[in-house]
Amino acid sequence: MIRAENLTKRYGQHVAIDSLNFTIERGEILGFLGPNGAGKSTTMNIITGYLSASDGAVTVDDLDVLEHPEEVKRKIGYLPEQPPLYLDMTVIEYLKFVGEIKGVPAAEFNNSMERVLSVVRIDHVKDRLIKNLSKGYRQRVGLAQSLIGNPPVLILDEPTIGLDPKEIIEIRNLIKGLGKDHTVVLSSHILPEVSAVCERVLIINRGKIVASDTPENLARRLTGKSRLSLRVDGPANEVKAALRGISGLRDIEAHPSTEEHAVDILIEAEQDRDPRRDIFHALSKANLPILLMRPMDLSLEDIFLQLTTTEQEVTA
Ligand code: ADP
Ligand code: MG
Repeated sequence: MIRAENLTKRYGQHVAIDSLNFTIERGEILGFLGPNGAGKSTTMNIITGYLSASDGAVTVDDLDVLEHPEEVKRKIGYLPEQPPLYLDMTVIEYLKFVGEIKGVPAAEFNNSMERVLSVVRIDHVKDRLIKNLSKGYRQRVGLAQSLIGNPPVLILDEPTIGLDPKEIIEIRNLIKGLGKDHTVVLSSHILPEVSAVCERVLIINRGKIVASDTPENLARRLTGKSRLSLRVDGPANEVKAALRGISGLRDIEAHPSTEEHAVDILIEAEQDRDPRRDIFHALSKANLPILLMRPMDLSLEDIFLQLTTTEQEVTA
């Protein structure tokens, strides 16, 4: 549905995005994840035709954005970082205005409007002035304007920024629902956002794509190993001795436990081996009861830091 080839944007000497290559499939919910300044908004502005690339090309539904700007704009609903809301308009006036700009035929418009109002659940505030709405509701209006004309693609730039936790959850759920009928691209600099909503994540850092995968695969691929947390009833040295007999365990660390007479163990195992049954048998044979055994996934936060933190930043 969207294809970027060698997409590059320079501001003077500064390279904001550097030869990005990616494709986004129809119906996909893709997360564009990266720290502030990574190049997310620049990329979205180019896809939507609001900014021209210095190099490379983007197609939407096989149409080149530069060659067919109007057609491409009709295919895309865009929620920019700062939604262009007119505060002195009512919700309905504003959405009508957006419909006119987008050239939605009057006959279609009323239908489209009703659907949009109900999808983002703003029917009950439709006659209010936008300036009197809460931040969360303004963001819904922003989402609503992106849906006018029912475009197949939605591009949402940091859609939950500045919202409170309850509003964030509501907007996330809305976006998830929209993903059923639209190709959705959303950007975020926070991880829980993309892992909660997206099927695939593109991680962008300093204008380059550093990873592209499902949130789950990213975790697996990047660690190359799995971790287990264990609590065992018994002395640390005995527990460690019993575990050492198991093959495929790379590292065994013992820590004092908060539970009396117990020890907490952190195990790193080879990725392709699940050692849990061996652990059970080994400890059972040594008469050391397991009180707790839990796989520990590397969080997306850990991965993100690994991917986007340079050594320079670590030592700085
Ligand atoms: P993000 O949305 O990921 O926070 P942006 O795409 O806004 O990142 O910015 C990417 C880089 O380009 C940043 O280093 C930013 O300072 C720079 N940049 C963005 N817009 C401009 C501009 N109009 N002029 C000069 N530099 C810009
Ligand atoms: Mg941005």
